[in-house]
Amino acid sequence: MKQGDPDRSRIMRAVKGKDTSPERFVRSILHRAGYRFRLHATDLPGKPDIIFRRRKKAIFVHGCFWHGHNCKRGARIPKSNTQYWKKKIGSNIDRDVRSLGALKALGWSVAIVWECELKEPNSVMRRMSMFLDGELCLPTQSLSNQAKADCEDILPPSR
Ligand SMILES: [Zn+2]
Repeated sequence: MKQGDPDRSRIMRAVKGKDTSPERFVRSILHRAGYRFRLHATDLPGKPDIIFRRRKKAIFVHGCFWHGHNCKRGARIPKSNTQYWKKKIGSNIDRDVRSLGALKALGWSVAIVWECELKEPNSVMRRMSMFLDGELCLPTQSLSNQAKADCEDILPPSR
């Protein structure tokens, strides 16, 4: 294997590494883009994974399976204990919806990054920088309807 440039191999490790969670990956691309943030705000509803207090913006990084994403991986319910998993994931989804509503009620904007989106780090980064800095929010093709709705939610109501 060629010794590539360190940035690229770090990204590849972040994408593929078994010990690297999706959340850590999102943190690292945000950090590399120059954003500074805090983690796991225990004082906020749903304990968002990444927060920008001054901007009042929060990001959740969701695993597709655990949070019931409307994608291939999210739809894959184990064949044994199916009822258990359905119930478990259903209650995760309910909790996510409640947290989102509670955060918005407190004046926070919220974005969700799905694990499956991380296959395209550049489009995630584009969406995040628009979420954090821009007036626009351009969801990628791969986003589920739910994610598109989330994205529309973060636009100011006047637009
Ligand atoms: Zn997904």
